This record gives sequence, C-alpha cells and structure tokens, in this order.
Amino acid sequence: MAVIESSTQDYLRTKKLPHIWCPGCGNGIVTAALIRAIERADYDQSDVVIVSGIGCSSRAAGYLNFNTLHTTHGRALAFATGLKMARPELKLFVIMGDGDCSAIGGNHFIHSARRNLDLNAVVVNNHIYGMTGGQHSPLTPTGKKATTAPGGTLEREFNLLDLAKGAGATFGARGTAAQPRQLEQLIARGANHKGFSVIEALSPCPIAYGRKNKLGGAVDMLRDMKDSSISVERAAGMEEADLKDKKITGVIYNYDVPEYAEVYYRSIGKD
Ligand code: SF4
Repeated sequence: MAVIESSTQDYLRTKKLPHIWCPGCGNGIVTAALIRAIERADYDQSDVVIVSGIGCSSRAAGYLNFNTLHTTHGRALAFATGLKMARPELKLFVIMGDGDCSAIGGNHFIHSARRNLDLNAVVVNNHIYGMTGGQHSPLTPTGKKATTAPGGTLEREFNLLDLAKGAGATFGARGTAAQPRQLEQLIARGANHKGFSVIEALSPCPIAYGRKNKLGGAVDMLRDMKDSSISVERAAGMEEADLKDKKITGVIYNYDVPEYAEVYYRSIGKD
C-alpha cells in the first residue's frame, strides 16, 4: 500500500480507501491538490464543506475528512447555494465533473456565476462522462470520440471559463493534473477570492476517453497535457494563431464584485 503524506492523511477518511478510480486517473491528483490548498488556507477542518454531484471525480467527497455532501447529478451547486446562504461562515468547495457541471448542471452553473455567492467550484475536466459510460459532454473537443459519438463529436465544445465569465463569474483559473503544485496554488487563490470562483482542472481519463481516442496511457496523456498548456503570462505576448490547441493556465480573470450573501443579509438588515 502506498505511503500517504501525513498531512494529507489527516484530511482523508482512510477507512473508505482504496478508492474506486482506475489506475492512472487524474482524480487523485486533483483531490490531493484540493487538500493541500485547503491546508494552505489554514481553515478549521470543521468549517470546510465539500459538496459534489455525480461522476468519477465527485466520489472524492466520500474520501475527504471534512463535512461532505454527495448530492444528485448536476445539482451540487444548488445544494451548496442553500447551505452557504444558511451558514455563510462555512468554506464551501464544490467538486464537479465536466458533464455534471456544464450539461446536467449547466443552469445551476451559469446562475451561480451570475449570483456571485462565495463558492469555490473545482471542475474536473476530463472531456467525457467517465462513470456513466463514456458519453461526450459539452467539454469534449470537437472530433474526439465517445460512446455517443463513435465518429467523433460534431458539436463545438464550451470554453468553460469563457462561459462562466459571460455569466458573471468573478474569478476564473485553469490548471492541470500534470502541474499539481500550480493547481494547488490556483485552488488556494480561488478560495481567497470573495465571490464565485471557478477552477477548471484538466485531468486525464485514460480509460473512458484515452482508450477511445488512442491517446496512449496515463503518462502519455499527462505529458501531452503539460506540453499543450501555456501560462497566461506567456500567452499574453503570443499571436492568436500560435495559441490554437493550447490550453492557457493560471488566473484568467479576477474581478472585485460584491458577494451575494453579504449583499442579501445587508438588504434585510442582518449584516
Ligand atoms: S473512468 Fe476515467 S475518470 Fe473515471 S475513474 Fe476511470 S480513468 Fe478516472
């Protein structure tokens, strides 16, 4: 059995292990980055709530030793909104997969962005519905295969952070499982942001997505992920044509807008 870093172990329900994830899945890397980001923020463990929907990445809630809510498909943000409004002092992290967040939960996602309640959405984007059978999601790149797109996806994919920004999100960042320390820092910065933050975590699914698209094993996928990512600082000096097929990483936007719960409680004289 692998040795778990002692600080990480404090935040895991070790009795729930081993986890269900396939060998080479990026979900463990993203979950570990989330744990370190929470540890870095130095929150009281009892003040942290992890809310998740349905899907491979959402199973993380069961392994994490905080207050946890494993909810229904696409509805994690709706549950999180109710909890945050009732208990605004709590620190909420909402783990969702790409289909969970942008298809089934798309309406909750755009309205959470518009509302600007202080929630931290960590969207694990592996470009596919892994747990439910390898169907394509709104974040499957055009042309990539899925069980529901055997000839390649015909639709254009959302740019998740652009979608969130258009809906009013005040903090958007992108990291990858291939660069876990950067991902940890981005989640920590999102946690410090007062308002709705979206962290898109690109993550390999070597089984449901990688096999179908002949992308090699987990190491190949991680290497490709790293090679095709570019920091927002470097990208700023490049032509748009040179950025085609690149994934820009880092904090993409960060706006200062009044947070919803504060505005609401002030409006009813309870601030
Ligand atoms: S199906 Fe994909 S996302 Fe799900 S656990 Fe396996 S590798 Fe991970």
